[in-house]
Amino acid sequence: MNKLKEETVEYRMEQFLRANFGNEFLHNKKVIAISCNQFGDTGKGKFVSLFSKWADIIARVTGGDNAGHTIIFEGVEYVLHLIPCGITDPDKINIIGTGTVIYPRALLQEIIFLKSKGFSCDNLRISLKANVILPSHVVLDRLGESQAGKERIGSTGKGIQPCYTDHVARRGLTMNDLLNPEVFRRKLKKALDYHTMIIAGLGGYEAAREIMKCDHLENGKFIGRDELFNFEAIVQSYLQYGKELRGIIEDTDAFMRHSLGKKNILLEGAQGYLLSIDYGTYPFVTSSDCSPAGMAKGAGLKESDIDVSFGIIKGFYMTRVGKGSFPTEMGDKSSEMWCNEGGDREKEKSMFIGSTLNDTNSFAQGVVLRRLAGEYGATTGRPRRTGWLDLSLLRYALDGGANQIILTKLDVLTGMNIIKVCHSYEYAGPDFNYGDIVLTKGDIIEKAIVLPEVLDHCTPLYKEFPGWTEDIRNVKHFSDLPENLINILKYVFKNVPATPRIISVGPGPDDTVFVLPFDLN
Ligand code: GDP
Repeated sequence: MNKLKEETVEYRMEQFLRANFGNEFLHNKKVIAISCNQFGDTGKGKFVSLFSKWADIIARVTGGDNAGHTIIFEGVEYVLHLIPCGITDPDKINIIGTGTVIYPRALLQEIIFLKSKGFSCDNLRISLKANVILPSHVVLDRLGESQAGKERIGSTGKGIQPCYTDHVARRGLTMNDLLNPEVFRRKLKKALDYHTMIIAGLGGYEAAREIMKCDHLENGKFIGRDELFNFEAIVQSYLQYGKELRGIIEDTDAFMRHSLGKKNILLEGAQGYLLSIDYGTYPFVTSSDCSPAGMAKGAGLKESDIDVSFGIIKGFYMTRVGKGSFPTEMGDKSSEMWCNEGGDREKEKSMFIGSTLNDTNSFAQGVVLRRLAGEYGATTGRPRRTGWLDLSLLRYALDGGANQIILTKLDVLTGMNIIKVCHSYEYAGPDFNYGDIVLTKGDIIEKAIVLPEVLDHCTPLYKEFPGWTEDIRNVKHFSDLPENLINILKYVFKNVPATPRIISVGPGPDDTVFVLPFDLN
């Protein structure tokens, strides 16, 4: 049965944009950014694909194929790593911007996959300035991670970090180099000489050869006979990639600047603010600046070009993948160890079978939450550590400017008796100098200081709320949300400088409550 126009998500979204941002918003061309105010994996995919209906141009602007987005198109779930969500609509232009790093083989595989599903990729454009991930970057990444022992940061092993490192060290190769054989050969030689020297220093020739046998690196094709890397094989493969991508590699920075004010532009974030190389919980961060400022730059724009900056958080919990401080983690260190050292989805299926979201053992409660919410990496399958919503970290993330908040996954908490919200921390560590501030045991911290030396000594202070039991999956209007849920929402937004704009109550586009101005009275 066809839906009434008033019930469609497109119509509700238009009403929402008009009511909150003014008629003018719909009549002029604007820039919207969607980023995450936590550690990523907050369901950006759903909202980027929703807002791609509004946009003319959708741009993926930082990171590489280490990120994973899940989108649902006509009831089917697709996981995209590099290509923006607008690819499902032939009328949209999709940009992979200058701030990204690209493993051309992964990009081509994604294009082939999408074409096999009937999506045209003719509307895709790739920045000629985006840096190229080489096989040696992947080797360096995996070798570094395997040798780091307890110090490892949980890299996805896709070569992203060494590629960004080379960019800063002015050794990087760009997508444009794939179109110029002589330039490519010259730069590749310089990069490979350096990478070989580093690998020799690490004593890792044998390990490097082993790594190169994997499918991701074309099953040993790049192993050299006399040298560590087969220079000619890499040249041949990469110039072939260049041939296949010719026509879509272009100056996207110029295109984006030219489109300002003429087209609706959507900037699609990757990872999350707390993982930004510049603002995140360094060193347990990603290699790019995935903050709104970094996103604008990665698109060839300025931060001030962004008209509306949406920031996504999970309601009312959060997750983190890999290592790094996580004060509100359910199950504390045992959860961190389990998720990073051997835990996986299969093993978890048979764990805590009789447990529910209300388990009194917080480790078990965290596992149940993870299972119910499907919190396993879209790219790696790794279990995501689960914890309570942390307002101290959120206050910090809001400094990035994404203060129009989208809350996702609230349906997952249905049936939880007590929901805890961390409103601040009590510092429990030794005296610590933070600039001219001296932190002392017993200090209360309202806005997180995102250094591990501080966060690891922060005891979260919680306010507890009764949960709700009503099924909220089909709720479309704010006033139909359970009172207990609204009470928590009001508490959160009384305590952080941000406004709740959208509440997601299920994975599908229709499972969305758009908050209208009068809802908040
Ligand atoms: P992203 O990288 O930020 O897009 O996050 P993920 O790839 O981890 O996507 C999150 C997953 O949650 C996907 O399977 C989505 O379909 C799903 N999802 C998004 N919003 C909601 C929601 O409100 N409720 C539920 N149950 N699932 C959601």
